[in-house]
Amino acid sequence: MSYVRGLKCRECGREYPKEVLFVCEYCFGSLEVNYDYGRIKKDLTKEVILRRPKTMWRYKELLPLDNDPTVGLNSGFTPLIPANNLAKKLGVKELYIKDDSVNHPTLSFKDRVVSVAISKAREFGFDTVACASTGNLANSVSAQAASVGLKSYIFIPADLELGKVVASLIYSPCLVAVEGNYDEVNRLCSEIASKYKWAFVNINIRPYYAEGSKSMGYEIAEQLNWKLPLHIVVPSAGGSLITKIWKSFNELQKLGFVDSVPTKVYCAQGHGCSPIVTAIKEKTEIIKPVKPKTIAKSLAIGNPADGYYAIDTVRKSGGYGEEATDAEIVEAIKLLAKEEGIFTETAGGVTLAVAKRLIENKIIPKDESIVLCITGNGLKTQEAVIKALPKPLKIRPNLASFEEQIKNGTNQKIADDKVIEYYI
Ligand SMILES: *Cc1c(COP(=O)(O)O)cnc(C)c1O
Repeated sequence: MSYVRGLKCRECGREYPKEVLFVCEYCFGSLEVNYDYGRIKKDLTKEVILRRPKTMWRYKELLPLDNDPTVGLNSGFTPLIPANNLAKKLGVKELYIKDDSVNHPTLSFKDRVVSVAISKAREFGFDTVACASTGNLANSVSAQAASVGLKSYIFIPADLELGKVVASLIYSPCLVAVEGNYDEVNRLCSEIASKYKWAFVNINIRPYYAEGSKSMGYEIAEQLNWKLPLHIVVPSAGGSLITKIWKSFNELQKLGFVDSVPTKVYCAQGHGCSPIVTAIKEKTEIIKPVKPKTIAKSLAIGNPADGYYAIDTVRKSGGYGEEATDAEIVEAIKLLAKEEGIFTETAGGVTLAVAKRLIENKIIPKDESIVLCITGNGLKTQEAVIKALPKPLKIRPNLASFEEQIKNGTNQKIADDKVIEYYI
């Protein structure tokens, strides 16, 4: 049933069989899955998709498995929400939130890539999976490996948020906290991957893993009734998601699902870790690696593996890049919660803060359709916002005490900078 021809080098185009490979032996370019689009076009129609369950697997012909998935069967098809309150606040006409903060099973967009990666790892016959992660990938690999009884080795930087650590540990992986930043974790993992026969989801089976991100793009297109948005803002770490959303839109055009791809793609990063955005602004194709310093830890990759392709995507689409300071990220998280009732993690704060700036700077016009990719859940990064929130009203359990306190107004009034001590 597979529509996969094999792998293909993104640089020199050399083709490879569908095996556990990720770099071209000749030019060291990265490999990508190569599909038989002619056959897909014959078999996959809008009607076929419509009849299938509302998960990412309704587009399974465009994902790189040989058989039906065995992991993450409920991932994807997250809501696309018309964000009318927020639109009014930002002064724009048509704004949507693609809400992967409620993805299954671990509340981030990473469930898409991991569902594909672990299903593929099982097709290859691995009994152990592993990853180098900034947090969300760790959660998803831990959970999904547990769900099918695979062993997992999870490598994270030692300074991650408590919520992300707990949301890995609960699934009993072997969790390894490395005293270093993500780039150091990743370098170590490449070494480990060459020695141990494990499926490192974002290293040795990366070409398959990365394809899972395309499902976010297919869903946005379908949820907009097969009309692509004119603007999409995507948070970037390694630069894979942004590249794959663009790929998904172009595949939809190739298959005749949409007439054209008018979408401008914008890269959002945190100030303090914005190697892709910096290169876009400086109009260079060369990524200058940085030492990350941002509260958006899920995006804190200083040397992005797909940085070059992310820049290429932004340029080809006619989009741009922008960054958000820590303070702007916190404000944006609060804004999204207040206006739309959605609690996102720091990466979502980056997306909204960057969108706000692009709109204010008239780079995104106010009267055109905009999609914001909200990729993770706020419950995992509570440290980032707790100091910016007021204390609850504290009362004795009687009406008089309640009315005495409520006279003083809402919670906002009694905010103070000792709030963290109140909670912990
Ligand atoms: C990993 C991640 C991203 C970015 O992913 P890349 O494909 O590495 O650019 C965005 N948002 C969240 C919440 C993530 O965990």
